Amino acid sequence: MFEATETFAKKLDEQDSLSKFKNEFYIKDNQIYMDGNSLGLMSKRAEEKLLNVMNAWKEFGIDGWTSGDHPWFYLSENLGEKVAKLVGAKPEEVVVTGSTTTNLHQLVATFFKPEGKRTKILADELNFPSDIYALKSQLKLHGLDPDEHLIRVKSRDGRTIHEDDIIEAMTDEVALIVLPTVLYRSGQLLDLKRVTQAANEKGIPIGWDGCHSVGAIPHDFHKIGADFAYWCHYKYMNNGPGGVAGLFVHEKHFGVEPGLSGWFGSDKQKQFDMEHDFTPADTAGAFQIGTPHVLSVAPLIGSLELFEEAGMDRLREKSLKATAYLMYLVEELLSDYNFTIGNPREDAHRGGHVCLEHKEAASICKALKDHGIIPDFRSPNVIRLAPVAFYVSFQDVYQTVLTIKKIMDDESYKTYKNERGIIA
Ligand SMILES: *Cc1c(COP(=O)(O)O)cnc(C)c1O
Repeated sequence: MFEATETFAKKLDEQDSLSKFKNEFYIKDNQIYMDGNSLGLMSKRAEEKLLNVMNAWKEFGIDGWTSGDHPWFYLSENLGEKVAKLVGAKPEEVVVTGSTTTNLHQLVATFFKPEGKRTKILADELNFPSDIYALKSQLKLHGLDPDEHLIRVKSRDGRTIHEDDIIEAMTDEVALIVLPTVLYRSGQLLDLKRVTQAANEKGIPIGWDGCHSVGAIPHDFHKIGADFAYWCHYKYMNNGPGGVAGLFVHEKHFGVEPGLSGWFGSDKQKQFDMEHDFTPADTAGAFQIGTPHVLSVAPLIGSLELFEEAGMDRLREKSLKATAYLMYLVEELLSDYNFTIGNPREDAHRGGHVCLEHKEAASICKALKDHGIIPDFRSPNVIRLAPVAFYVSFQDVYQTVLTIKKIMDDESYKTYKNERGIIA
């Protein structure tokens, strides 16, 4: 159904109802940005809203908390309501707060209640290091040895995790499960519904790390019965470097005491009573800790407008088509150069990026950058390519693969060292 020609890529762009959104982003001339899975690009709306909030500070000073277009006091909850639509949650189940890792700490501090022989946390051996560091340190805070109490489900192929293996590991020693929705390296999308259901049936609380899916894939966190979830907003959500993250807590847990309390988790009516007895909000807002990082939230106001206009389902549909086209082109044009596609092929098991493996991945990435194509390298051999629906066209996808072919043909990648830089 695809063709490996520029004319065909152009035709796909003409049929693409989202193509107009590319203009909403700052993209350098002659650059193709395939790294939105690490840091999403700046949109004009994000810039505008950041300036708007800066201006409220300039104009209102302290009164900016309750004045201006986006009063800061309610911003985390108001944006949470909007993000809730993207992740399939009720409006009060999501709040925009913290960072991925601090939110994980908060949620584990809240939901990990070791008792009797139920003392273990179940994770997987391919998860992002920060998540694992957080889980280990939470175990230590309980006086538990991570070597014994952190179970990491093994991968059968070094790239993916089998749902059967996760479910089999849900023994009566497990007190909490934390897993990624999409694996950051291979781009595998786990069957969230099946795994969550199994955890629910065994009465084990389960939380999902949505860093690599929120903004790329619609979720149904409420309906599938996830206990909690957390994610960053600087990847597919385009909220800018270090932009404030998000968390979901299922409404069945409203009223539980946050593991890490702070005054911004208060019932908003009571917060400024300044009592020493904490009255948590009866929403996911209870899991906030301190004063929101307003300037790092502001870009999200603009970015969310774009998500509302484009629609999460349409974004996913285009992303699937673009990753499918990318895989097709790799097979058609790069079959002579020892590349392996490391991500699962089926739509239901694929995230927003393609995982291209090659022995010389680091050199190839450097050569691509010098050709104006921004990939993402993950040691030792992974090139991640994310054709983000908002700002990567089908012609960009075609151009990317054609450029890889050129680099391989003329062997120009060999002039670069095959080792990673400081970042990636
Ligand atoms: C990006 C990412 C993080 C980053 O965490 P921060 O607290 O934002 O630095 C953590 N976990 C996963 C799975 C990620 O993809």
